[in-house]
Amino acid sequence: MRPTLYRHPHGITAVDAEYLYRGHAAAHVIEDSGRAAFVDVGTNASAPYLLAALEELGIDRTSVDYLFLTHVHLDHAGGAGALMRELPNARALLHPRGAPHMIDPARLIAGAKAVYGEEPFRRMYGELLPIAAGRVQVVGDGERVQLGARSLELIHTPGHAQHHYVVVDRAHASIFTGDTFGISYRALDTGKGAFIVPSTVPTQFDPAQHLASIDRMLAYQPESMYLMHFSRVTGVPRLAALLKEQITELARIARAHADDPEPANGIRADMLALWLKLARREGSRLADAEIGQALAGDLTLNTQGLISWLERERTKGTKS
Ligand SMILES: [Zn+2]
Repeated sequence: MRPTLYRHPHGITAVDAEYLYRGHAAAHVIEDSGRAAFVDVGTNASAPYLLAALEELGIDRTSVDYLFLTHVHLDHAGGAGALMRELPNARALLHPRGAPHMIDPARLIAGAKAVYGEEPFRRMYGELLPIAAGRVQVVGDGERVQLGARSLELIHTPGHAQHHYVVVDRAHASIFTGDTFGISYRALDTGKGAFIVPSTVPTQFDPAQHLASIDRMLAYQPESMYLMHFSRVTGVPRLAALLKEQITELARIARAHADDPEPANGIRADMLALWLKLARREGSRLADAEIGQALAGDLTLNTQGLISWLERERTKGTKS
């Protein structure tokens, strides 16, 4: 079991979670003064790689104090129950709305099966193990946590999901963003830097909240953002502008197709056209097919998420 590691400054290491394919999902290890934490952990299949990464970094399993689970989507937290069994001193830190689902994952399993289907779910995520309630710590907005000599601030960032928080490392101008600062595969980097797209997956995407959460993170003036997909990006103001432009535009695209007989077709086609246009504008020299392939999974899930958002908007409209 050989983990793929990417060493970053300030005791931060990305570990490839080996989810779907290499370079897709990164769990992060933060080390400080002999103590350690994970930010997001991937799926059950990731756990052996994360344990191997600890060994390679010379970190004893008893030195891991926290699992910061930014939200309970399964590519981030699906392996938490299994990993917790190997880390005797760790506590799992969760948003108040996320915590109950890690203690009893029944609804999480049902929700993911509805998105992916029964068989793909089993193949991708296996059996989700619960975390004992006594090892789950619920985090309030603005709460501070001490890791070794490092003070970390946890802030609630709804928009991608209602129950999302991020980990701010103010002393090192870094934020561990889960999915709140979008998705940025290294294969799409250009001469200008990273290319980035928002993740509007089911079932809680909310454009207004998402935009507000990005502004809230920007107020810390971070230099590095550590994304689950895929690890460190810099040049944060440029990327934030690119993300915000797309969140607004994707919401507009979704609304424009709301009354189509098959809204998915139009939304999907317009989203891909937008991404190709922006990738070109940001200097990408890849062929359209290569860009489309790199973002194919996100295109599908984002389309589903935008449709679920339209449905929620409609229900809200009939209620008021
Ligand atoms: Zn997510």
